[in-house]
Amino acid sequence: MPPVKTLRTLDELADAGLIAPGRLPALEAVAARYAVAVTPGMAELIDAEDAADPIAAQFLPREEELVQGPLERADPIGDEAHSPVHGVVHRYPDRVLLKLTHTCAVYCRFCFRREMVGPEGHGNMSPDQLDAAMAYIAARPDIWEVIVTGGDPLVLSPRRLRETMDRLAAIPHVKIVRFHTRIPVVTPEAVTDALVAALRAPGKTTWVALHANHPREMTAAARAACARLVDGGVAMVSQTVLLKGVNDDPETLGALMRAFVETRIKPYYLHHMDLAPGTGHLRTSIAEGQTVMRAMRGAFSGLCQPTYILDIPDGHGKVPIGPGYLGDGVVEDPAGRSRAYPPE
Ligand code: SF4
Repeated sequence: MPPVKTLRTLDELADAGLIAPGRLPALEAVAARYAVAVTPGMAELIDAEDAADPIAAQFLPREEELVQGPLERADPIGDEAHSPVHGVVHRYPDRVLLKLTHTCAVYCRFCFRREMVGPEGHGNMSPDQLDAAMAYIAARPDIWEVIVTGGDPLVLSPRRLRETMDRLAAIPHVKIVRFHTRIPVVTPEAVTDALVAALRAPGKTTWVALHANHPREMTAAARAACARLVDGGVAMVSQTVLLKGVNDDPETLGALMRAFVETRIKPYYLHHMDLAPGTGHLRTSIAEGQTVMRAMRGAFSGLCQPTYILDIPDGHGKVPIGPGYLGDGVVEDPAGRSRAYPPE
């Protein structure tokens, strides 16, 4: 029987048969440091008999999380250095992040904001903080896009989301509102008509960036939730984190990208994993990531090609990290053969 509620403690995970009881003492320190939550839908997808299950690797706490690598840091992409008012990150001229909440429906073991999210994390924005954030955005005509993130903003009620959209709708220079979320995958039943309607506002274009990492996450229920969003007038892109043992091979990654495209979601970013603490067991090298991306090119439709991205530590921004195909007078074709360019 799948669980009927979100599993939030080690005992609940053990009772559901997802963690061997003998591991509980070793995992107590992990659960005390980093939040745990596994929704019924994700718990049902986990094959507890498979020690390398790619869904388990994303959501079940592991002893390795207490091992902090020498380069890992609490704020790996430098949010704090670019936060002019609470809950706003302004790193690039034409867009800001608006972090309405630091709560999520699930807690991913590789999360780059793992020191900020969870019940003990930075919480929801207060009314005063939201007023200050809206005033900051309204006062800067260069801000074309507001990226609502967190945490996962779609854990908020449709009423709260509607209020946020109404306030952004009143700012003429904001044209695009983009929500970053895992909800359509991890709690697809939460994507109701009321929620979809709450994300729309007259004169604004709404995008949803869906975070999913393995093709098994794109269940029939998840695809139906995405269809409700797209049919409701929301444009969608994907974001995926490259994770060792989860999706670091072209077959798995290609199947995920195909699932996105079949669901009318354009593959957008494949993130090289950030240097969040205790995540080294899930991180590939950049060379390994480039090898996977190279194998994707040609084997999968151009629609299925995400951009492989590195968020440079300490807030220096995102850049594509290849692989590159152009050399001096040569270009590599999708089969890996060098061709002269310009042609001889
Ligand atoms: S849903 Fe997003 S913000 Fe929340 S734990 Fe997962 S990666 Fe982090």
